[in-house]
Amino acid sequence: MLPEGAGPARHLLRECQRDLVAGFFRYDISRKVRLVAVLALMCTWTRFNRDLLPSPLVYYRKEGIKLFGSGQWRSTRCPIHKVKKPSLSIHVPSGGFNCHGCGAKGRDVLAFHRKRYELTFEEAAKALGAWDVTADVSPRVHSRLPQRLGDPVKIAARRHAERELGKDFRPEALHVYRDKNGNPLFWVIRARHSRTGEKWIRPMHLAGHQYVLGLPKFKDGKPLYGLELLTKKSKEPVVICEGEKCADALRKLRLLAISSHGGANSAASTDWKPVAGREILIWPDHDEAGHR
Ligand SMILES: [Zn+2]
Repeated sequence: MLPEGAGPARHLLRECQRDLVAGFFRYDISRKVRLVAVLALMCTWTRFNRDLLPSPLVYYRKEGIKLFGSGQWRSTRCPIHKVKKPSLSIHVPSGGFNCHGCGAKGRDVLAFHRKRYELTFEEAAKALGAWDVTADVSPRVHSRLPQRLGDPVKIAARRHAERELGKDFRPEALHVYRDKNGNPLFWVIRARHSRTGEKWIRPMHLAGHQYVLGLPKFKDGKPLYGLELLTKKSKEPVVICEGEKCADALRKLRLLAISSHGGANSAASTDWKPVAGREILIWPDHDEAGHR
């Protein structure tokens, strides 16, 4: 029979917990070891983010490994056992590899990185930027993250804005700057004070395996906000406005709206080449900077 009321239920629950804890100590040593190993593995897996691994082609090129041939399987010299013959086959879609010389094989670039440099799983994941350091956010910030806990970018943005969020700033937007193929280059975190309206805006980028504040370095000037849309909608007229917020608002009206990072004042440090030859409409802000 079920005990009545909350008191007995709570008591029962406490008994159960005590049994579980006592049970653990009664386990034989091998079972304890297995249990701890499983827990450790679970912790590791939650911090490893496969989505952050570099694409196989990018990875192997960066590693200075020239791939010969075409199609899904390419061949190259094996850097693991270092012979002249191209004995290593690499599966381009997955990054998997198989060496007919030394027998080294694995299913992705992470496995390759581990083999080549003799690294542990964690070391290799960190080296390749697939270790989610943003899992280190404080519990206070975590409690403010009811939605999509899995998005490392959002968690990192919140972590960087933690001090402001504690001072009555509210997150307003997280703008993504992308390259022309749609890959993220950096983000702009935007928060606003709930009473004074004061703005807090910071760029953030991925440096190695860490999201850090600041802009990455760009050789030919900063990319435009909406660069990827220029490629996608190559025939449409382009509306240039000041700031990502304005561009977002105009995009909701189905306009191809772009902006430079930092608004009118930093237009000079932006790479405008992608809009060359396009039909352009300027959408100025109603402030001093906009009328210059
Ligand atoms: Zn080999």
